[in-house]
This record gives sequence, structure tokens and C-alpha cells, in this order.
Amino acid sequence: MTVMSLIMGLADQGIFPYVNGKKLVLTPAAKLTDELRLQVRNNKPALMANLIELQRFPEWNWSAFEANPGRFRAFAELVMISEMRAAGQVPDHYTEIVHCESCNQDVPHFPVNADSVLACVWCLNGQTQLSMRGANSNLAKRA
Ligand SMILES: [Zn+2]
Repeated sequence: MTVMSLIMGLADQGIFPYVNGKKLVLTPAAKLTDELRLQVRNNKPALMANLIELQRFPEWNWSAFEANPGRFRAFAELVMISEMRAAGQVPDHYTEIVHCESCNQDVPHFPVNADSVLACVWCLNGQTQLSMRGANSNLAKRA
């Protein structure tokens, strides 16, 4: 289990995790299952480091996340996807291969209900000097 999947597992359970000072807060703690409690205990330093990193976005309303863990889950997932793509890793939900008319390659892509796209995230990465597809991923080798 990766730390991001643990964060999403907590949100799926209706729990909002955050770091307050040096303390990890899981609210409402009563919703913690034994399995999640064990995972939190085993991954606490990495979990806290990831939450602190997510909390670096001051424009997000953290109290609204507490009231809506699903919204927090979506936010955390978007951050994770964005960072994976920037690092050249293919996200798990990129289950289709489409032709990119910009870079003229067949690339892994999220389902778009089309055989081709005008530009793919990987050529956008190239334009902004981020990693290209597969730079840091075994997943991309399937493409
Ligand atoms: Zn492309």
C-alpha cells in the first residue's frame, strides 16, 4: 500500500487526515478500522510527510475537506496524478492507447472515447520541460 492509497482509503472511510503542528489528526477517529489503524501506525512518518505536502496549497479550504472527505480524496488524487505525470509515470487509470497528433506517437491515456487526441499530456510535459512518459516508470513499458 502506498501512502497516497492509504490517504484515499482513509477518505473512502469518511476520515479526513491532516497534520496540525507535529500531530497527526484523523477525524472522526471513531471511523478508523483496525486495518486502517495498523496501516497508519506502520506508515506514520511518510503519511505525515505527504499530508504536510498536500497542505502546502493554502488556497484550499481545509475545514471544507473535514466536512467532505470525498472532496479531499478527489483533491489528493488530482495532486497524485499531476505529480506522477510530471515525473513521467503513467497513472493507473491510463488504460487506453491513443494516437497523439502533436507528437505523432501512440501514448497511454485515460479513456477519451476517441482513437486520437490533438495533444497528449506527454507532449505538454515536453513543452514545460517536465519528464517524458516512462522516464521514471515501469508501467510505461507496456505501451
Ligand atoms: Zn503527444
